[in-house]
Amino acid sequence: MLGFKRKKKRIILRPIGSVYNLQEIYNALNHKYFDEKLDLRISWFGRGETIPKTRITFGSYNHNLKLIKINRLLDKEHIPEYFVHYIVYHEMLHNILPPKRKRRGRHHIHHNEFKSKEREFPQFSEVKTFVKKWKKVHFEN
Ligand SMILES: [Zn+2]
Repeated sequence: MLGFKRKKKRIILRPIGSVYNLQEIYNALNHKYFDEKLDLRISWFGRGETIPKTRITFGSYNHNLKLIKINRLLDKEHIPEYFVHYIVYHEMLHNILPPKRKRRGRHHIHHNEFKSKEREFPQFSEVKTFVKKWKKVHFEN
């Protein structure tokens, strides 16, 4: 057969950080909150060096790749463990609670069902406080 096949993009996973092991965190959360039913991949992204001044993506989830990516800026001693756990938990929720289509076009990502599931995270209020503090310390205005 003639032709060529587009090479499938190889994804290099880097789950082991210098402070936090994302694979371990993912496994623990999958056990604790998801009945071990999720089958996702997880990796750090970025160099963990420069803290952006206007907005930051702590984590992301790609539905097609079933891939969670967590910002390496969180792989630090001063970042509380519950916060890293929460970010991974949030991204895992995206797998089981996909975006809802709103009436006109746009997708609603963090819909009510998502938000109420989010609040089931035990340290949810600490997380909110931590984010507020982060913004105050790192963001201009
Ligand atoms: Zn989200």
